[in-house]
Amino acid sequence: MADPDSGGPAAAAGLQTTSSDATKPPVTELNLILLGPPGAGKGTQAERLTQDFGLPYIATGDILRKAVADGTELGRRAKQYMDAGELVPDDVIIGVILEALDTEEAKDGFLLDGYPRTVPQAEALDEALKKVGRQLTAVLLLDVPDEEVERRLSGRRVSRSGRVYHIEFDPPKHPGRCDIDGSPLIQRDDDKPETIRKRLKVYHEQTEPLIDYYEERGLLRRFDGTRSPTEVHDHIRATVATLRLEDEL
Ligand code: AMP
Repeated sequence: MADPDSGGPAAAAGLQTTSSDATKPPVTELNLILLGPPGAGKGTQAERLTQDFGLPYIATGDILRKAVADGTELGRRAKQYMDAGELVPDDVIIGVILEALDTEEAKDGFLLDGYPRTVPQAEALDEALKKVGRQLTAVLLLDVPDEEVERRLSGRRVSRSGRVYHIEFDPPKHPGRCDIDGSPLIQRDDDKPETIRKRLKVYHEQTEPLIDYYEERGLLRRFDGTRSPTEVHDHIRATVATLRLEDEL
């Protein structure tokens, strides 16, 4: 059965706003940010939300990893920071995101994952959107405590082909071997306990101030990221649908 709340590209881009309040984002344009620590499930939710609302998904981590793999100038500059679990400098990443947003694909809405990660990055985004008469619709925060992040990331294993397992939640049939190609499973450097702790420290120090930043602007919506992916997704979808509805009234 068709779900009117689930939208789709036409709903995301096609409706006219009836709001006369110029300070509110237009109902038709969903400009969303996913915020939360590493391992909060942002990628999983993003996959579902982009399908629900027909939004382009822009993940700075993916853009940077591709730049590293392609050996571009950006990749060369970013690699040392990424390997160390640190943030790429603001001046580098701000250029990347402004370019990604200034595209035909992102002109009617977007879902950002991994950006912003610092207050200056958030300010740069606000300014860029303001210049073209746009603004954020909401910032979706996935709350997950540090112990749970450590449990999720430290149990993650990958096969040579990139299939991801979890020793506790999604184990292979034979311990340490991929079900598909039989290759030995390895732990990514990113998922080693010391790097996880480093990434969490960076998150608390540099990214968490964004919670207050967006709360003060009335944009923050919190979700319990310890619930099942389906529960989190249902909750987010209902919230985004309500935001649209409120704007239409
Ligand atoms: P992610 O896949 O989002 O965890 O990103 C992987 C790595 O890319 C991070 O650990 C950072 O080194 C870098 N990175 C991604 N997004 C940003 C950002 N907005 N600001 C600074 N560094 C970033």
